[in-house]
Amino acid sequence: MISRSVLILKWVFLLITILANGNPPEEPVKCSNNFTNCTITNSYGAFPDRSTCHAAEAAYPSSEEDIVSIVANATREKRKMRVATRYSHSIPKLVCPDGEDGLIISTENLNRIVNIDKEKMLVVVESGVTLMQLIDEAAKSGLALPYTPYWLGLTIGGLLGTGAHGSTLWADGSAIHDHVVQMRIVTPGSQEDGYATVRTLEENGELDGEMMAAKVSLGVLGVISQVTLKLQPMFKRSVTFLTKNDSDLSDQVATFGRQHEFADMIWYPSQKRVVYRIDDRVSSNVSGNGLWDHPGFRATPSLALIALRLTEELQEATGDITGKCIGGKLTTDILINTAYGLSNNGLLFTGYPVIGYQNRLQASGGCLTGLIDAEITACPWDPRVNGLFFHQTTISVALSKAKDFIQDIQKLVSITPQSLCGLDIYNGILMRYVTGSNAYIGEQEDSLDFDITYYRSKDPKTPRLFEDVLEEIEQMAVFKYGGLPHWGKNRNVAFEGAIKK
Ligand SMILES: Cc1cc2nc3c(=O)[nH]c(=O)nc-3n(C[C@H](O)[C@H](O)[C@H](O)COP(=O)(O)OP(=O)(O)OC[C@H]3O[C@@H](n4cnc5c(N)ncnc54)[C@H](O)[C@@H]3O)c2cc1C
Repeated sequence: MISRSVLILKWVFLLITILANGNPPEEPVKCSNNFTNCTITNSYGAFPDRSTCHAAEAAYPSSEEDIVSIVANATREKRKMRVATRYSHSIPKLVCPDGEDGLIISTENLNRIVNIDKEKMLVVVESGVTLMQLIDEAAKSGLALPYTPYWLGLTIGGLLGTGAHGSTLWADGSAIHDHVVQMRIVTPGSQEDGYATVRTLEENGELDGEMMAAKVSLGVLGVISQVTLKLQPMFKRSVTFLTKNDSDLSDQVATFGRQHEFADMIWYPSQKRVVYRIDDRVSSNVSGNGLWDHPGFRATPSLALIALRLTEELQEATGDITGKCIGGKLTTDILINTAYGLSNNGLLFTGYPVIGYQNRLQASGGCLTGLIDAEITACPWDPRVNGLFFHQTTISVALSKAKDFIQDIQKLVSITPQSLCGLDIYNGILMRYVTGSNAYIGEQEDSLDFDITYYRSKDPKTPRLFEDVLEEIEQMAVFKYGGLPHWGKNRNVAFEGAIKK
């Protein structure tokens, strides 16, 4: 009876979600007054107290000259500095400066598109520009960034800092840092240099080694002020999500990514189902004005988020794994039936393939815009609402080893069939292709990235249901298969020995 009411509630909430407007997330840096005595959190509110992430001061440069002066002063005073962004999505505490007099440098006001050169197909942006701004502005000039993360709220500095990516094995690859041609970075300098230096790094330039270090740097080398990215002429894509059983998934992964330019897979191991994204370029003459507005990135009614969280907390507390399996299956069915938020014309999904321009299909972020109060709608993870709170284990395994890793997960599921139902509530395991890169801490070879999202208790000492199975998967990915962690996600264990890789 309870499960039935939950199902009905979920359908009602889904409907309201479709109709709801957005609500931008809150500023992650909060200071008591005059930009001093600050706390920093991330977009999930995962480290909210003064004791977990504190800075003596925050600075908001709005030009490269401002950055130089801020970095020079802090270097002279031997203060620790870290860079924060408009939303600060990273799960690890990369943004927290050590010590009592740490300084946060926010890129919130470094938010301008500096130049778009249509002929050379290059865009120069300040590092606080969001993926949404970049894609929109490039599209106005008839240009596109071919491969990007799927969430529009990331900033250019942040996604370079953590090596963020979309999915492809084609051309220059799915990581944004492999599309950077030039970067300007302000680093601490000697007294003779005035305590700060601006370096211009270029791909294949004189300082190429520095570029390979700086293009994925976890923000520890300096403050990136400007980035120049290579673009392409705008193009159209044709997308079809195809659901199959997962019996031959381990054999498919090595070839599927070579067959389709924007291929990815969403795997629901507990349901033995996998959804293949068959996604390729098509001629611009093919009609279609498709849009991708992923339901997980839309403004969602806050009451719905609270209800979902309470349901899951209850299931966790009472060990109700059957309830989780029902909820997970329902979530998957809704997503499959609504084409994961794809529409053929911006409003309705009428059938596959969905054809449209790259800028409308590559990423989504419905909850970033709009002015409605968080009490009414919010991004699903917005900490102002007691809504979804989750962890993400995201590790890429060399493509040559992905088959064995998938089979190991299938063996675990055959021993405990319901153990991974909880993942389905967060849309299963997203598997994306990432190409080998020359960035020192980027992928070393072509890989498959496993993005696993699951319930997180507000009390760090409370284990989640089937924690042992999830940890087994995490440990196999890191230790048995030598996987590389996504620098912006993961629990601490994933970073054991990571830099050596
Ligand atoms: C909803 C959601 C969807 C996501 N989707 C994807 C995805 O599709 N693919 C993917 O790979 N990842 C994805 N991520 C993870 C995300 O890419 C990383 O966490 C990313 O780094 C966050 O970018 P940010 O702008 O919030 O940067 P932050 O998390 O604020 O910063 C990341 C790091 O970069 C440093 N940094 C930021 N700006 C600068 C600068 N100007 N100079 C020097 N250092 C700087 C920071 O100090 C920090 O160390 C997603 C995260 C969320 C929350």
